[in-house]
Amino acid sequence: MFDNRKKRTELSELGEFGLIDHLTRNIRHRQPATIKGVGDDAAVLDYQGKKILVSTDLLLEGVHFDLTFTPLKHLGYKAAIVNFSDIAAMNSLPAHLTVSIAVSNRFSLEAIEEIYSGIQLACDRYQVDLIGGDTSSSVTGLMMSLTVLGEAEESDITYRDTARENDLICVSGDLGAAYMGLLLLEREKKVFNADPSIQPDLGGNDYILQRQLKPEARVDIVRKLKALKVKPTAMIDISDGLASEVLHICTDSETGCAIYEEKIPVDPATLAMAQEMGIDPTICALNGGEDYELLFTIDIHDYDTLKDDQEITVIGHMTHQASGMNLITRSGTQVPLRAQGWDAFKERREERGERREEKGERREEGGERREERGERREEK
Ligand code: ADP
Ligand code: MG
Repeated sequence: MFDNRKKRTELSELGEFGLIDHLTRNIRHRQPATIKGVGDDAAVLDYQGKKILVSTDLLLEGVHFDLTFTPLKHLGYKAAIVNFSDIAAMNSLPAHLTVSIAVSNRFSLEAIEEIYSGIQLACDRYQVDLIGGDTSSSVTGLMMSLTVLGEAEESDITYRDTARENDLICVSGDLGAAYMGLLLLEREKKVFNADPSIQPDLGGNDYILQRQLKPEARVDIVRKLKALKVKPTAMIDISDGLASEVLHICTDSETGCAIYEEKIPVDPATLAMAQEMGIDPTICALNGGEDYELLFTIDIHDYDTLKDDQEITVIGHMTHQASGMNLITRSGTQVPLRAQGWDAFKERREERGERREEKGERREEGGERREERGERREEK
């Protein structure tokens, strides 16, 4: 992990231009569309008649990430990946990235370089050119805003509002692991804060930690679908949990859906940690979020092409809008799918707030955890 004690170059020693130079001098371009990158008032790109996709994300310290357990390099990597994932969700490939960053003097040059090494690693892996950004000082925490551009032929782009009744609902990879990784990190942070002599116990949990700290964007699935000549009828990436994303596609497409609990792919490592923490793994998959897998619908005629793919699971189908959006549980009961979004958590927090007044400051373990999660959601 990055060690701030090793060497510390104050940002004031470099100034803004020195810092920009430091961060951008090793940039190489790979995309043929890049005419001009960093170094002028604007970058210049030539997409040669293709459609351009643009997506942007804002990341605030204390709201979207916690630096007590997020290594800086991972933070940079993940910041880039979540943007790339938005382009993948349009069935397209990310090509260009801009990075704007505001830092306080709490950070050294070495710390910022560490963040950039993560961003650069993501760019290298995904063949994305870093073509510009902005740099500023901040009086509070660290702030980053990334904008990604991608390219696609119009006919390849997938939207959220084009799924149809009877289409099959597919998901890539497995779900819920990133959320279990987050809960583990938060649990160990709490233990550490209560007694700093107790070292975090993270051993043996590589998969869920990696899913939380170092996610990937499924451009491999985009490539695979193209190679198999399967164009999803609708697609979205899973950043807020399966339930929320399915509801987006259904609402926008004016359909209902039936999702089968037993079909939802969950890794054994996620199951094990959910069991240890006394949490329902299905809830993790439905409402956990940050999986950055792709959720998409396909025409039923494409089923044979995808049915044996290890990375893609059919979890249900689209129905008539009047049937509603439903989860069929393992026991065969049909329950309406609900996204545990902002409102649900707000209600729960208010409920608990009232309870707390009644009971004074007494707290329950389970409630605490939900509250933390609620706060995160609310701030999103
Ligand atoms: P301007 O005054 O026109 O905003 P800047 O001095 O801020 O220009 O930036 C100079 C060049 O460096 C521009 O090409 C800009 O895109 C790039 N740049 C600035 N900050 C960053 C950054 N944090 N990461 C990548 N490129 C950056
Ligand atoms: Mg500027």
